[in-house]
Amino acid sequence: MTDFIDSFDDEDPFDSASLRLTVDLTALTENWKDMARRSGKARAGAVVKADAYGLGIEDTGEALFLAGARDFFVATVEEGVTLRPYAPDARIFVLAGIWPGTERRFFENDLVPVISSEEQLAFWMAVLAEYGDYPCALHVDTGFNRLGLSMDEALALADDVSRPASFAPVLVMSHLACGDDHPSEMNRQQLESFRQVSAAYEGVDSSLAASAGIFLGSDYHFDLTRPGIAVYGGEAVNGMANPMRPVVTAEARIIQVRTVKAGETVGYGRAMQLTRDSRLAIVAAGYADGYLRSQSSGGVPMRQALPQGGHGFLAGRKVPVAGRITMDLTMFDVTDIPENAVRAGDYVELFGKNVLLDDVARSAGTIGYEILTSIGLRHERRYLFEEE
Ligand SMILES: *Cc1c(COP(=O)(O)O)cnc(C)c1O
Repeated sequence: MTDFIDSFDDEDPFDSASLRLTVDLTALTENWKDMARRSGKARAGAVVKADAYGLGIEDTGEALFLAGARDFFVATVEEGVTLRPYAPDARIFVLAGIWPGTERRFFENDLVPVISSEEQLAFWMAVLAEYGDYPCALHVDTGFNRLGLSMDEALALADDVSRPASFAPVLVMSHLACGDDHPSEMNRQQLESFRQVSAAYEGVDSSLAASAGIFLGSDYHFDLTRPGIAVYGGEAVNGMANPMRPVVTAEARIIQVRTVKAGETVGYGRAMQLTRDSRLAIVAAGYADGYLRSQSSGGVPMRQALPQGGHGFLAGRKVPVAGRITMDLTMFDVTDIPENAVRAGDYVELFGKNVLLDDVARSAGTIGYEILTSIGLRHERRYLFEEE
């Protein structure tokens, strides 16, 4: 009896999970080192916003820190607080900047606010007047029109002799609008603008390139680069073969295999009608898990690129999605898989080494970033790391 109970304790939940996610931290750190090499003379930072693109900021942040990353970028102060213990003496930049009421969290966790508007700058000056020296970064808008001081504001601030001595930015940065589109003239224009900013802030580190910008070449590297998606194995540049290693595998269990006759329909809205006698695998993943409904085989009028929808991978073959993806379940057509090679309990790969993340994104009419950051809360997670 006790043996029986012990054997319960020994169960690894990963082995029986309905839905599971494997994050290969060795591939992740190799990707980061690759981006660091491609950054040439510049230091490579690491962007771990949105829970490290959905993969888990704690494990991912620690692996990147151990690999040598010392400049991290998060979106919010909360993310910075979560990351701090895993990246003990690294610089952590908070891209959303600082709000009144968050100063204490910045100071206590040694986070660097990225000042990106005139309001934030005015508030920051007041903070410095009260608390004294503290580092900040400045975001300058060179054409994206999202966050950032305008060029005029940034250049005037650089020359402002009346600014307090305690105001000491450690980084000036900007962000490319078309970094993923290498021929775009916008890249050259933003580079020209950012060169002026960088020159005006002599002695302060400069940063322009995210993943895609790193591939634009050394002109774009400045002192610090900010790779994100490439570290996670995603495509950064349109139309370029992806040189990064896949990092994430998502799998879901087949709950049931059912036989359906030719002429019958599948799922909500009868979105698919079967043209032959078929077998369907009913799999434990749906749009609540980030398996986006726009990958359905039918009934998705807004998706034009790939009207047939997405596919999974099972027993060495691609298996197409059948009908509409539902909240918790997806039907896959497994008719072409030999009957003895598919049974309830088997796992279908949703994305990973056989179904590339960016192919899933294309069949959903979106980008790999959105697939990763949509990964839901139901996956059992496993982090792989090979000791060297
Ligand atoms: C998200 C982000 C990055 C990282 O971009 P990737 O395309 O994922 O490499 C870099 N800089 C800023 C300002 C960002 O918002």
